[in-house]
Amino acid sequence: MSLSSERLAKTVEKCVLEAPVVDIHTHLYSSSFGDLLLRGIDELLTYHYLIAETLRCIPMKPKEYYAMGKEEQADLIWKTLFLERSPVSEACRGVVTTLQEYGLDTSSRDLDSYRRFFSNISVEEHVDLAFKKANLEAVVMTNDPFDPVESSRWEEGAERDPRFLAALRLDPLLNTWTSAVPILKERGYDVAEDFSGKTVSEVRRFLEYWRKKMEPVYLAVSLPPEFTYPDTSPRGRLLEDVILPFCKETGLPFAPMIGVKKLINPELRLAGDSVGKSCIGAVEQLCLRNPEVRFLVSILSRENQHELAVAARKFSNLKVFGCWWFLNNPSLVEEITTMRMELLGLSFIPQHSDARVLDQVVYKWKHSKEIITKVLVRKYQDLMATGWTLGEDEIKRDVNSLFYGNVKDALNLA
Ligand SMILES: [Zn+2]
Repeated sequence: MSLSSERLAKTVEKCVLEAPVVDIHTHLYSSSFGDLLLRGIDELLTYHYLIAETLRCIPMKPKEYYAMGKEEQADLIWKTLFLERSPVSEACRGVVTTLQEYGLDTSSRDLDSYRRFFSNISVEEHVDLAFKKANLEAVVMTNDPFDPVESSRWEEGAERDPRFLAALRLDPLLNTWTSAVPILKERGYDVAEDFSGKTVSEVRRFLEYWRKKMEPVYLAVSLPPEFTYPDTSPRGRLLEDVILPFCKETGLPFAPMIGVKKLINPELRLAGDSVGKSCIGAVEQLCLRNPEVRFLVSILSRENQHELAVAARKFSNLKVFGCWWFLNNPSLVEEITTMRMELLGLSFIPQHSDARVLDQVVYKWKHSKEIITKVLVRKYQDLMATGWTLGEDEIKRDVNSLFYGNVKDALNLA
């Protein structure tokens, strides 16, 4: 049965709302990782997006800011961005949306009452609540085996929450090879900076070790705008001789996230990274020369989005995902999602949350779902204007592929 155009918007809205989400990229951890899982109002307020926004507004040096305790930092950000001016930026609005979704009174502006709410829920209840509010089925973490705190948690073999999937992140290996070498050596891997001897097989052994330990659903790396491929740098050699063959043999996808200019303002620390335009030719070469490897790609610069979507039309082993970081703003999500749908139909992964704080999944998915709904309704309206008919079951099928089906296919999840 076809829907009337009046019922179309309501039906899309309902299907999107009900669609469970598999969030392909976050920085969240399951509760078994202890304090690596960030949660609650003080973490929400001290998100690095808000640190950068606060330090634009007050005459305070980043060093002074970071010298304060967490609660004092959160107080300052609340006062500066929420009380002394209206919280209209996307990152600020996100905090308010989250409070509202949790049923808190946003008109009270009473930070202490928000703190009381979060301190009264256990970590297990908190994870369940955030998953319920965002309608999450699963999230993919970002797991760095070079991080001493994180790797020791993996070594201790804490119990796994099956809703938290692992992604083996390779930034130290691929971006700072000279610093990775001594760490690998210390852990018993016979590697050399000049790639002599057993280096290639030993890095391969390292990957194999962590594949067994983490059972990752993909391998990932964040890359600078200058990333190129093929390339004779250590990164190029590692990709060619170790990472890509490893992906080919194991069937694990490789997920480069390209375009981060690291620490453009070092004093700002995590808030100090920026964006640069990347070379999509490098992505095309990766896909062309490695047809058996599946690539999941997200690019940070708005200016690269059209070229990336066109590249995805040419290579079926390229899956575009998410509106990443500085792109995760309503105006840009709408523009990018519309363009992708026009070029790729439904064969892309429209969004990931990139959440660093548990509660961020609540607003990031709510805001994104609103925009994806809007884009879908417009596309269906255009179709129906031709006399094409649409049933609710077809809309549900399409929506589900956008929010979890495409992710599950890309990650080989059941
Ligand atoms: Zn991220």
